[in-house]
Amino acid sequence: KTLRVAICGLGSYGTRVAEAIQSCSRVKLTGVISGTPSKIKKWQEKYNIPDKNCYSYENLDKIKDNPDIDAVYVITPNALHHVQVIRVAKAGKHAICEKPMAVNAKEGQEMVDACKQANVKLLVGYRMHFEPNTLEVIRMRNKGDFGKVLFFQGLCGFKIGDPSQWRLNKQLAGGGSLMDIGIYAINGARYMTGEDPIWVTAQESKTDHVKFKEGVDETIQFQFSFPSGATASCLSTYAMNNLDRFFLNGEKGFAEMQPSTNYGPIKGRTNKGELDKPHTIHQAVQMDEMAAIIFDNKQAVVPVNGEEAVKDLKIIDAIYEAVRTGNKVSLKL
Ligand code: NAD
Repeated sequence: KTLRVAICGLGSYGTRVAEAIQSCSRVKLTGVISGTPSKIKKWQEKYNIPDKNCYSYENLDKIKDNPDIDAVYVITPNALHHVQVIRVAKAGKHAICEKPMAVNAKEGQEMVDACKQANVKLLVGYRMHFEPNTLEVIRMRNKGDFGKVLFFQGLCGFKIGDPSQWRLNKQLAGGGSLMDIGIYAINGARYMTGEDPIWVTAQESKTDHVKFKEGVDETIQFQFSFPSGATASCLSTYAMNNLDRFFLNGEKGFAEMQPSTNYGPIKGRTNKGELDKPHTIHQAVQMDEMAAIIFDNKQAVVPVNGEEAVKDLKIIDAIYEAVRTGNKVSLKL
């Protein structure tokens, strides 16, 4: 069965997803939701989308009556995901949502609850969960190739440009680099070690108080401890480039990936040699897999459901608390 998707938010990542869907085997772009009529018109022409499948943010709830759309993929600024996903759920459509799923765990949980109540699925765009070299490292770890896992390091960041963009606006972004790029290290620490942290510590540094206003973090370093005794040390930043690196160390072996989370090709090596799985278009594989999760109840090796995303949001809440208080913050995920 083909998953017929409407994209909500026709910005840069929405555009990338729409392109990727063109090479999917069981996903079709059938609708759009946007506040900009000129963009809708362009997308309609490009993807052959009829007028009846085009919505604004005002009338998005009417999607309820549209039999051509199975799911809505929300790809708007972070703080808007909460209300939009809940509207999608209330309209009886499956929701796919970009990361971070929300700007805190409370809102994330409300999204999970709304989708459960509406009996629709809630999936989050964690494209790395379907990336072949990432899955190979996870397979090797599960097989014991690295022995007991001892340590993970995740370095995620880039130098952010235009100071007027929504990513630097607390109201729309919910925070700063941690929400946007640090979440890859948080999520990566979990799928690379196979464990959820039991406490976090964190430290913030800010060099530019004009560009990075109150509540918008420029750089945060954070540390996790896992139930096995393994630890993680991570860096999230909007202040430097060339930071896209994962390192997992165990008693018997290691995996290092660089780049580790960009659009690829993902490269790296382990104690057994180069990671050499062929490059895929992450968003295309993700969408085909999501069709199987929605229609066939397929279980992803690393889950992408709303509950998993709430765990990342609880960690984000804890990191911000640790920054604010200087305390070690306990977590129960
Ligand atoms: P973008 O600025 O390019 O696009 C955002 C879109 O939302 C624009 O079309 C904009 O018009 C629209 N929008 C609707 N209401 C808005 C409002 N009130 N203010 C500002 N814009 C509004 O951003 P993007 O890079 O496409 O990011 C969108 C989401 O996708 C974010 O949550 C981001 O974290 C996520 N993202 C994920 C990945 C990934 O690899 N998974 C990559 C990039 C972005």
